Amino acid sequence: MKIVNRLLISILFSFGGLNANGSMFQSHIEAVPDDLCAEMSRLKVMTPANPVQCDRLRRVVFSYFDFSGTVHSNGEIMVLDAAAPAVESIFRELFLLRFPIAKARLINHYSGDDQKSLADNNSSSFNSRSVTGKSVLSIHAYGLAIDINPVQNPFVTFPNKSSGFAQYHPAAGAAFANRSNTRRGKPFRAGMSEEVVDIFTRHGFAIWGGGWDNPIDYQHFQVSREMAEFLAATPAKLATRFFSNHTKFIQQFFEACPEQASDRRLLDYSQWLKQKLGSSPKEKLLTVYRQQTRAMSLLINDFTLQASKGISCPAPVDKRA
Ligand SMILES: [Zn+2]
Repeated sequence: MKIVNRLLISILFSFGGLNANGSMFQSHIEAVPDDLCAEMSRLKVMTPANPVQCDRLRRVVFSYFDFSGTVHSNGEIMVLDAAAPAVESIFRELFLLRFPIAKARLINHYSGDDQKSLADNNSSSFNSRSVTGKSVLSIHAYGLAIDINPVQNPFVTFPNKSSGFAQYHPAAGAAFANRSNTRRGKPFRAGMSEEVVDIFTRHGFAIWGGGWDNPIDYQHFQVSREMAEFLAATPAKLATRFFSNHTKFIQQFFEACPEQASDRRLLDYSQWLKQKLGSSPKEKLLTVYRQQTRAMSLLINDFTLQASKGISCPAPVDKRA
């Protein structure tokens, strides 16, 4: 209920980028300057083998509310070029909702050390690194995963599965082990990711780590690995159009299938393309692209048109099961 009230207040009092208290949302998207790119390489935030280099990354600068209600105009996050407009929209909506963000600084500030960034409750995206505890490349290395308020939304692991013992990263996140925000006699806790899952989803970041079982990654929103690989392998202009179509597709899905969308039974755009193409969209689209750029543009347009006409909703969840 409180979430609904806060949203309603934001809508009633907001005009353009104006929030209820009159603060203006400001944002812009910029290319990565050479000196920043050199620093990223020196700190190993960027590596020569990374699937995207500095030319494919964008710095999104934005205003945000901190937990004391103070507005900061210097929030920054580094993401893939194709997703930058969507990321700017995400932070605009978080601002209008007055969703607090503790800090938003580039990972360079922590010398590329993810643990230091987590401990400082920093929200961030790009970092050329592997998935924590594994050798596979993280979606953060594509600038297509965003971590938000790590203390309020910890990364939870279960090193001893038989005992169920949980570890919280950062350690201060243990205070947020109970995820319910409707606790008798206790105040509403702001900054928890559950409140903004729909905002991230509608803007293309449709996979939330809070839906996983082991580890549980409450702070983490990402696109699918297949989509990350495709966007990285596709020239910037077409990748941007693809991501824009992906977000339109999701928004159409929310309209066409509200029940399934709220149950998170979301059909991903790349999954949908896969069904239509009958093969990996990455391979097929790249083949077409190599043959004729115009043909690929038409192909994407055609799919978006089809998607808007004929989304078939998956069967609703049987909640008695
Ligand atoms: Zn993450």
